[in-house]
Amino acid sequence: MAKRDPVAVIGAGPVGLCLALALAQQDVSVVLFEQMSDDNFLDQVPRAGSNHPTTLEFFDRIGLYTKMEPRGLIAPRFQYWDRQDTALVAEFDHALLKDDTRFPYVLQCERIKIIEEALMMAKAHPLIEVRMATEFVSFEQKNDAVIVQVKNAAGETESIRANYLVSCEGARSIARKDLDVEFEGFTYPERTINIEVAYDFRQHGYTERNYISDPVEYSNLFHWKGPPDRWRIHFPTNIDDDENQLKRPEALQQRLRQFLGIDRDFDICGCNLYTVHQRVAKRFRAGRVLLAGDSAHVNSPIGGMGLNSGVHDAFNLADKLARILHGTADEAELDRYERQRRHVAVKHTQAQTIRNKRMLEERDPAVRQRNHDELRRQADDPILARKFLLRSALFESLREAEQIA
Ligand SMILES: Cc1cc2nc3c(=O)[nH]c(=O)nc-3n(C[C@H](O)[C@H](O)[C@H](O)COP(=O)(O)OP(=O)(O)OC[C@H]3O[C@@H](n4cnc5c(N)ncnc54)[C@H](O)[C@@H]3O)c2cc1C
Repeated sequence: MAKRDPVAVIGAGPVGLCLALALAQQDVSVVLFEQMSDDNFLDQVPRAGSNHPTTLEFFDRIGLYTKMEPRGLIAPRFQYWDRQDTALVAEFDHALLKDDTRFPYVLQCERIKIIEEALMMAKAHPLIEVRMATEFVSFEQKNDAVIVQVKNAAGETESIRANYLVSCEGARSIARKDLDVEFEGFTYPERTINIEVAYDFRQHGYTERNYISDPVEYSNLFHWKGPPDRWRIHFPTNIDDDENQLKRPEALQQRLRQFLGIDRDFDICGCNLYTVHQRVAKRFRAGRVLLAGDSAHVNSPIGGMGLNSGVHDAFNLADKLARILHGTADEAELDRYERQRRHVAVKHTQAQTIRNKRMLEERDPAVRQRNHDELRRQADDPILARKFLLRSALFESLREAEQIA
């Protein structure tokens, strides 16, 4: 039976939507607040979308996977390249995980498609009240409830009583700031430029997901389903580079020509510049207020772990909140949520993405050589390659979190 006071979820990003759906499917009522309106919800900067097998299992649990698969690309393999001599260093194939998961591949399906499908599902669910164009402003905690203040589409302030409040607001979380929770970590000084281009890089040997090391200009290259099919290629930029200069059409063309070593014009569909942070909130819980996804942790996108680990937070928390609200667990479970998911954010997501970036940008030739030899050694041995994939596809982080009391 659904409880009278709903769980208030702030933010209809992938984390907030998965949390809302996973709660509602366990008979918990939810009110979901999203500041964007139906008119502009899909006009968001392109980001993310390498969905690992563990995350696909969660999406499948709420019925989202079947909606995503036709809109994405199945990518069983990924590659490491050395740009110095344009050579393939190592390839890993998720087929090695066929006995570990029903999804032995990554699904390349962008965040915008995920939230479009998940929002439709949330709106159709009788236990989820979706409040678009409604901005979360502040909250007040009581012994048995949270009073949530929002500004609605008409610009009026409303107070809503909720059982719990979960901030899935993204990196700028107001709840985290109001709680005065430190966002520990650092921001990389350089920005990354993402170029979207309709050009088939497979003709040069690349696969759907590629990590390319280079002491001067490392990059990441990913294939996305169209129409038209697009590839996104990310390059670091110099700290002092001017944004307008970086985004000049001719400058973008030149970067692509240099990367491929060919002289031609490319069909560039877009570009954006972003800053990369490595930060984890000191606490994920304060009483009845919880943080999940980018509200709780942000990291470099190299390795595609931010959205994935945020979705893992959502399912971990949904199961605990549902048990608490149905009276089969007590609130101490929420501290376990913090212990489990903070451990994953620091020891797995953050540590791994820092290592990934360091490896791609390594300048010392001897260290580069060692790194590449080690990748080859792991890729060539099926036992080591499976172990590598269990870590990169986040199985290891989930299993380790389960061991945390
Ligand atoms: C270029 C780039 C590439 C990336 N690639 C990957 C990848 O391949 N794989 C991966 O796993 N991760 C990737 N990430 C990270 C990923 O995009 C984020 O981790 C993920 O989107 C976080 O989801 P979220 O739901 O926590 O927050 P968000 O996606 O940021 O969603 C937050 C939502 O809350 C809403 N909101 C904010 N404030 C309020 C408020 N006050 N009131 C109401 N609503 C509010 C926002 O409008 C938004 O809809 C990438 C990130 C970048 C920048």
